[in-house]
Amino acid sequence: MKVIDISSSIYEGMPVYKNKSEKQPKISTVTNGHVTESRIDMDLHSGTHIDSPLHMINDGPTFETIDINELVGPCKVFDLTHVKDRIKASDLESYQIEEKDFVIFKTRNSFDEVFNFDFIFLAEDGANFLAKKGIRGVGIDALGVERSQPGHPTHKILFNSGVIVIEGLRLKEVDQGEYLMIAAPLKMVGTDASPARVILIDELK
Ligand SMILES: [Zn+2]
Repeated sequence: MKVIDISSSIYEGMPVYKNKSEKQPKISTVTNGHVTESRIDMDLHSGTHIDSPLHMINDGPTFETIDINELVGPCKVFDLTHVKDRIKASDLESYQIEEKDFVIFKTRNSFDEVFNFDFIFLAEDGANFLAKKGIRGVGIDALGVERSQPGHPTHKILFNSGVIVIEGLRLKEVDQGEYLMIAAPLKMVGTDASPARVILIDELK
């Protein structure tokens, strides 16, 4: 059994969305005698995280409405490293994507070590394609599932269809295939997102 950690590391100076300083985690550490304790102040959308619909829908469902049972189970990783700019429906049609699937898209984003303003994202028609398939969730190796789309249609389509969105994955070392995914977010209540540790288990090896 091989455990593959597909989460981003969290540290001051980590890559964050659009390099915004307010999205940088601030970790302050105090040592009193032999006791060391740290606190962290960070944006819930920095690093690997799971969005809740509230992120893009006013009064939308908050984080605790995402059932942990939906975050543990089989997933399909698709290699889309050949895709340029955005993932369109036409890029997805040839893949075996079925109802209830949790799909993870590996793109060239996984090879960026710093924030790339031209990151690959899921286009509106790609989101519509996935919503019509009735998938359970989608994960991507970008800090946002979309960019440059006024009104954020990709997020809204996915949220309105009950599709879970995981962002900020790191997939450089992952091959296309089927895995067991364990996505374990913090048990946040009332929020628009939560940081998560996400691992894949390759049961075949
Ligand atoms: Zn997010």
